[in-house]
Order: sequence, then structure tokens, then C-alpha cells
Amino acid sequence: MKLSKAYLFEKALAVRAQIALLPGDGIGVEVVAEAEKLLQAVAKKFGHEFSFVRGLIGGCAIDATGEALPDETLSICRASQAILLGAVGGPKWDNPSAKTRPEAGLLKIRKELGLFANVRPIKASPYLVQASPLKTEIVAGVDILFFRELTGGLYFGESGRKTNPDGSETAFNTMIYSTYEIERIVRLAGQAARGRRKKVTSVDKANVLEVSRLWRQTFDRVMQAEFPDVQTEHVLIDAMAMHLISKPKNFDVVVTENLFGDILTDEGSMLPGSMGLLPSASLGADGPGLYEPIHGSAPDIAGKGIANPLATILAAAMLLRHSLHLETEAVAIEKAVDHVLSRGHRTADIAGGGPAVSTVRMGELVLEAFLAV
Ligand code: NAD
Repeated sequence: MKLSKAYLFEKALAVRAQIALLPGDGIGVEVVAEAEKLLQAVAKKFGHEFSFVRGLIGGCAIDATGEALPDETLSICRASQAILLGAVGGPKWDNPSAKTRPEAGLLKIRKELGLFANVRPIKASPYLVQASPLKTEIVAGVDILFFRELTGGLYFGESGRKTNPDGSETAFNTMIYSTYEIERIVRLAGQAARGRRKKVTSVDKANVLEVSRLWRQTFDRVMQAEFPDVQTEHVLIDAMAMHLISKPKNFDVVVTENLFGDILTDEGSMLPGSMGLLPSASLGADGPGLYEPIHGSAPDIAGKGIANPLATILAAAMLLRHSLHLETEAVAIEKAVDHVLSRGHRTADIAGGGPAVSTVRMGELVLEAFLAV
């Protein structure tokens, strides 16, 4: 049989990938199920071959194996091109004297896979801006991509405590960064900016901290040498805390270290008005990326079938974009989500007391919109 050129070209673009699904606990199970349906539909519509392998993490893993991240899960993740995670935790495992906690699974997977960059898009849906605590004219059109360094800085530097001669205590943490840790996250930010509005804002405290002066110097060197086409600026962390809520539209890509990023991304997550819509990715130098919604396992609504699956569905879109390099497919999912919101469909968390659809129905609506475009 002679195959047509168009057929061969299409086949060459087909992607074969194993995706690890780690639903975790609580609503994690419900929202990952909806995102999986979307990924299956992407494979079918665009001719890719995705295989899905499930692993345990968090409380369910502790129940089954005594470990929050069993070795088997880690092996599944290492053998996969990307990981989609739901959420971990819940009151059942909240016992402070427990040997291990569900969250230990998250910290371990990040460390084991060398996931040094946390990527968080903060995009205000035009259909939900009225849900934001900020004025519509400030929030409408916000589209920021945060890169937070995840494995260095104050959270990982030397720390300690000592008792002073007078009985009082002294404690310390060390903010520490080496050049290579700064270079690699700045590069990711620079690359991302090229596909966007070509601007990177670096946030630091270089007027006070030596570690920030190294951060700034390294940022300038990498950006000038490797991304001369991208506009750059420096903003001090204290000023950034103000600008993020007074003029968020000024920012495109923002890159910062661990502690500043932790605080700024939580502040930023309030801009779009609902946590149920925000995905995030954690990326390493090589190996699989980890994609998840920013919310937790929501034990108060788990099992009721009312959780909002959109953050996890958007995390699946990030997975397609960043780990499988399938931009068209990612955009198709994002457009489908926008379409569903534009038609007024809402889960309870964003319905403002109005009529609401279930988790499964919201998943179906996005799937229908995706198949229709
Ligand atoms: P949470 O994000 O789970 O819930 C906060 C509130 O938001 C709750 O009222 C919940 O019902 C609501 N909510 C969250 N996601 C929602 C969604 N998709 N749809 C509708 N409503 C949603 O935070 P929490 O209550 O502080 O924590 C609950 C558990 O989750 C804890 O055990 C915590 O440790 C864990 N947690 C896990 C992660 C993670 O896995 N990455 C992140 C945060 C919290």
C-alpha cells in the first residue's frame, strides 16, 4: 500500500506517551477522572497514543503501603513522560503523631524527580472577573506566568536553633542560591516569554540581600546573552506585592526565588477570583513534569460529586504544552473551558449561589466543546 504524503506527515507528528495518573485523596480522584477523559479525547482527535498508568500517593498510599510515596509510584512516574496529580491529604491522616503524612509524598516526588521550577499561570477568565475581590478594570485581561524556584533558597538552606545563656532561644534559616540554580530557572522563564509577550520581570530584594544581588547579576547575564529579544525588568519583592494587585496587567512572565514565589503566587491566585480554576506545573531539567490543580483535596466536599474539575483539566492542558509540546492541543482544551464558562455553566464553587452542574457534567461539557472545535 502506498501511503500519501499527508498521511505520513500526520503520522510523524503523532506523539506516543505514557502519562502517570496520581489521583491521591478526596476530590483528587473525582477531578483527575474528568481530566483523563479529556486527555483520551485529545489522543483520539489528534491521532496520538497515550497510555495511562495509575499510582498511589498521599493518604491512600499510606493506607495501602505505609508510605506516602511508595517506590512503585516513583517507578511509574520515572517511566512516564508526564504526571497528572489530583491532591493529597484529609482529616483521616491529620494525626500529628503519625509516622508519615500525606504531604510527605508531595515533597518526596518533587525532590526525587528534581522538579526545581514551579510554573503557575494566573489568568483571569473574562467570564468570571466579577468573582475577583478586585475591581473588574484591574483584573480583566490579566495573564501572568509565574516561575517560582522550588528546590533552593530559605526552605532548603542550613537552619538551626540554640538556647542562649539567659534561657531565651535563637533560630536561623539560611537563604542560599548557587549560580546554576538561578541560571536554569531564568532560562525556563526566558523560553516561556518568547512564546508570549516577550517580557520577563525578575523579583528580588537586591537592595538588602546578597543572595538577591547574585540572583540579579545572573538573571541579567543569562537574559542578555541568551534572550536579547526579550524585554527585562527588576522589581523589589515589597513593591511587587503592591503592583500585583494594583497593576497586574503590567506583567507577562515573572521569575523569582522560592520564598518570594510562594507568597506572590498565593497572592496572585486571588486575582482570577476562584482557586478551582488554577493549574500549576513543576518541571525539572529532564524527566517528567508534574501537573496539578493548586487546590487541595477539599474533604468538606469530597464524594459529593460537586468539585470543580476545571483546574485539573487546565493542568492537563499544561501537561500537553510543556511535557509533550502539543501547543495546538493545549489551546484547544483551554478554548473549550472558556467556551463552557462563556455559556454560563458553573460548578457550585463559582456559581455564586446560582444553578450549578456536577463535576461529571462539567467534564462532559468541556469534552463536548473540545470535540466541537
Ligand atoms: P482545599 O484547597 O482542599 O480547600 C479549600 C476550600 O476550597 C474548601 O472549602 C474546598 O471545598 C474548596 N475547594 C478546593 N478545591 C475545590 C474545587 N476543585 N472545587 C470546589 N471547591 C474547591 O484546602 P484545605 O481545606 O486547606 O486543605 C484540605 C486538605 O488538602 C488538607 O489535608 C491539605 O493538607 C490538603 N492540601 C493538599 C494540597 C495538594 O495536594 N497539593 C494543596 C493544598 C492542601
